[in-house]
Amino acid sequence: MQLAGGSLLYCPRCHSPGFHHGRITAYQRIEDAKQVTEITIDRDCSTLRLTDGQYNPSRRRQDLAIQITCDECPSGLPPFELTIDQHKSATSIMWRESPNPNAAKASPPLSIKQRG
Ligand SMILES: [Zn+2]
Repeated sequence: MQLAGGSLLYCPRCHSPGFHHGRITAYQRIEDAKQVTEITIDRDCSTLRLTDGQYNPSRRRQDLAIQITCDECPSGLPPFELTIDQHKSATSIMWRESPNPNAAKASPPLSIKQRG
């Protein structure tokens, strides 16, 4: 069964519909908790760690970010992210610059798994 809705996405910089998905980050937070569990899947590696929630799109809850690289934007521009953010009972889909995951104030990984 296919639900109604959905549409093609376009690059927020150049309006091209051609891009690739990269790193996926899920942010899990119990409402208003100071600590956020981040699960990152990047190519063949997944990482689970506790963070301060600095890069979580939501200030209060759990969210999702998909890193995007555009085929048409000039090379050298940083990737950006499509985020799915919950605030109260409303859900927003937004674009943002990709944060540098190495700059996050995070604990050492609780788990790292590599495929293969
Ligand atoms: Zn673009």
